[in-house]
Amino acid sequence: MEGWVSIFFNIMHELLKKDLKNIPSILSQAKRLAVEHFESQDEKPAGRLVQDISLDDLPIKGIGAEQTLNHFERNFSTQLSNSAGSRYFGFVTGGSTPASVVGDWLVSAYDQNACGSNDSIAPQIEKQTMHFFKQLFGLDDAYFGSFVTGATMANFVGLAQARHWVGEQYGVDFSNEGLIRPVKILSGTPHSSIIKSLSMLGVGRKSMIKVPTLPDREAVDLEELERNLWEASAPLIVVANAGTVNTVDFDDLEAIGQLKKKYNFWLHVDAAFGGFASISEKFAHLMKGINHADSITIDAHKWLNVPYDAAMQFTRHQSIQLKVFQNSAAYLSDPEKSPDYFHYTPENSRRWRALPSWFSLVAYGKEGHSEIVERNCELAKQLGVWIDSSESFKLLSPVRMNVVCFTLKKENFTIEEINSFLDRVRDDGRAFFTPTFYKGVPAIRAAISNWQTTSDDMEITINALKELSYVPA
Ligand SMILES: *Cc1c(COP(=O)(O)O)cnc(C)c1O
Repeated sequence: MEGWVSIFFNIMHELLKKDLKNIPSILSQAKRLAVEHFESQDEKPAGRLVQDISLDDLPIKGIGAEQTLNHFERNFSTQLSNSAGSRYFGFVTGGSTPASVVGDWLVSAYDQNACGSNDSIAPQIEKQTMHFFKQLFGLDDAYFGSFVTGATMANFVGLAQARHWVGEQYGVDFSNEGLIRPVKILSGTPHSSIIKSLSMLGVGRKSMIKVPTLPDREAVDLEELERNLWEASAPLIVVANAGTVNTVDFDDLEAIGQLKKKYNFWLHVDAAFGGFASISEKFAHLMKGINHADSITIDAHKWLNVPYDAAMQFTRHQSIQLKVFQNSAAYLSDPEKSPDYFHYTPENSRRWRALPSWFSLVAYGKEGHSEIVERNCELAKQLGVWIDSSESFKLLSPVRMNVVCFTLKKENFTIEEINSFLDRVRDDGRAFFTPTFYKGVPAIRAAISNWQTTSDDMEITINALKELSYVPA
């Protein structure tokens, strides 16, 4: 009987067995697809509109990896977004550097669970990568950091600690007792993901108090901020914004840091892409004062140009982060021992998210990555200069870094006109932008964040804008 069982379970499903034998050829096919993608990015339309997928039934009998690749290539590979390409200017979207793609492929092949323990170097490489990042962004050694899936989750992790800290100020342990007192948050121009995090954290979207900004700016008015802190005379959370999505405006981090001497608040800085100002001598002044932050958010899948999904959260209060996220199952290790990431992050099992960033930082260094940032900003400036002189468009804000926020020049246009113009741009395929509202005005954003974008791309983009904005009378 025993022998029968062992023979039976020695037989792997024939398709798995075949694929195991064919791994070299399967991976070469995948490589061919990936290479073709990189080589054709320039010819493919920058943006596209796809139809909803038709929902096929679950296959009972499979077809094996190679046939699946063929099926995918034929039916779906041509309908993907070219968001990693050099003229996709929607949202704030980076591509993937060659080294980061290598790292990302290997993450899947090695399939490590980067949750902690010493049975793999994977979490240690995360620790090393965080050390690199602290140096790249000029953060004090005292910060503890880890990878999460995106800036939204980094904001969530920062605000979760801030929430716990507010409780501690009242002598209440929110992490154990629940949110038994209201928590208030002040911010000038918070990203939508801050508000979403407040919902996820049970703090509530309505706990956000929007503080007025400076005239014609998205940066918070410091006097108004101070007035709010004074009026509250209670422990609060302040979310400072280092790089707003519309105009890349920065709150004065140094001045806000100084307010900590007079008022009791937790300072969270959302520097999702603006944090990259630190890595260029030209822009580093915008991040001055960052070390006053109690917690910080910076994205990797935006301006570091590594594949989705990856962002970093940093904290000065590792012990508070542990109190919030500690996972105390008996089989898990001693949480005081670093780096057991599952005691610090929302996830328990964790993708080895550090490796693509580690590859890119080692491959290109600070110089390589700061060149991307400076080139992108230079190109944004060029586009801004053209828009400023154009007959059809006008700038809504000075171009501070990599985002150009502009709109139609004509009087009294509607949001529909913006959307139909953007549809025409998308269908033309030379460039891709997304709409926004800036100070109540329907507008267009061009966010230049891709490592491959050059002045040739700007020329193509400007030509497209010129031609598509021309509507014969
Ligand atoms: C993009 C962005 C976020 C959200 O980031 P995800 O990585 O998409 O979760 C938060 N804050 C700012 C300022 C951003 O630009």
